[in-house]
Amino acid sequence: MHAMVVGASGGGAILLGRDASYPALLAFTLAHEIGHIALGHVHAGNALIDVEDPALALVDDEEERRADEYAMSLLTGAPEPEITTELERYNAPTLAAAVMSAGPIHRIEPGTLALCVGHRQRNWAVVMSALSFIYSQPVAIWKAVNSVARAEIDWESMSEDDGDFVRALLDLDDL
Ligand SMILES: [Zn+2]
Repeated sequence: MHAMVVGASGGGAILLGRDASYPALLAFTLAHEIGHIALGHVHAGNALIDVEDPALALVDDEEERRADEYAMSLLTGAPEPEITTELERYNAPTLAAAVMSAGPIHRIEPGTLALCVGHRQRNWAVVMSALSFIYSQPVAIWKAVNSVARAEIDWESMSEDDGDFVRALLDLDDL
């Protein structure tokens, strides 16, 4: 499982099923799952599972396509950002330099812009390698995500056993 959305009245919860070394990789998944909630794809008590990484999956499903567009709008300001560059001209370092220069101009996070290029041109090897040039070092995204979870979860609403289970699941003792 890559990610999952559980519907609840007035919103929902998102579970990210994998870690990533660079923020842009999880930002797209998170924005896609927020899209499923915002677009009403899950109802209270129901769940929706994305088995594959939505950034990499070739979608043939209306709800998935709309969640992708929502994610793109959230992260870039447009459902289908116009990218005119030709990736064939780039290798990983030059693509990284290009998105780090173009990102601030278009107010798009450079790693996200690199993923947009990959989404358009399907040259994932170059794009993934470019991420290692964009970010100075890999980071444990799960720690940041689980810190947010720790702050946002209404622990009082859970039984002690359920709270212990969720704490262990989030590995909160290791943050
Ligand atoms: Zn999805």
